[in-house]
Amino acid sequence: MRTHGAPGPRPVPDDGDFPARSAPGCQDLAELDARLTQCRACPRLVSWREEVAVSKRSAFQDWEYWGRPVPGFGPPDAPLAVVGLAPAAHGGNRTGRMFTGDASGDFLFEALYAAGLANQPTCTHRGDGLELRGVRLTAPVHCAPPQNRPTPAERDACRPWLARELELLRPSLRAVVVLGAFGWQALLPVLSDAGRQLPRPRPVFGHGAHVVLPDSGGGRELHLLGCYHPSQRNTFTGLLTLDMVVDVFRQAAAVAGLEQ
Ligand code: SF4
Repeated sequence: MRTHGAPGPRPVPDDGDFPARSAPGCQDLAELDARLTQCRACPRLVSWREEVAVSKRSAFQDWEYWGRPVPGFGPPDAPLAVVGLAPAAHGGNRTGRMFTGDASGDFLFEALYAAGLANQPTCTHRGDGLELRGVRLTAPVHCAPPQNRPTPAERDACRPWLARELELLRPSLRAVVVLGAFGWQALLPVLSDAGRQLPRPRPVFGHGAHVVLPDSGGGRELHLLGCYHPSQRNTFTGLLTLDMVVDVFRQAAAVAGLEQ
């Protein structure tokens, strides 16, 4: 059996095992991001992201949509990661940057700014001057799914990208904020595979959930915090307010050792 990193046929982006064969060998986040953006492992998502990029929303007819997998965003030595769900069809799939260009992102970046984790409260496009302070934004699924609903198979196919991203962040990573139950469920097996000791029964997602995960190898513990996803369904109904998100980010920044 061929092992990861062993010589063999070059991975082909259209193959279902492209993430599993490509991600583990990436030496840094720049390489990971570059390989990730070539990925075509999920036929349904490839078709959707490219169809949306051509048909476009009327308000964005002048845009050249990104239409590819959207890589993580933020410094490679971040002590804090924020894990969402997947790019939005007319947000990240249009702009090419996580959470950029949609209402969820507007809400999220305002909260990051209020918590001292971003240099500005707004985000509109790559090159808008936005910088994150000690935070890496990513997702368990890197392509926009129809109705914002990836299938379990798509989530699993994309997992090697997230696993390698967190592995590369590991020297600096102290805390992860997970936005929503989907991201929580996707992340737990990644953390378990990476040697984090998960309590039994497994920690349940909820807004304000906070679990400390020891490292079975004797390394530093990791703080896992839950936050409702800033979807319009949650923010328009008042289930999630800006103050609630800022509180979670402040708590995460504190346990991650980030000055605010
Ligand atoms: Fe590749 Fe992930 Fe996009 Fe699937 S969702 S095509 S695994 S980047």
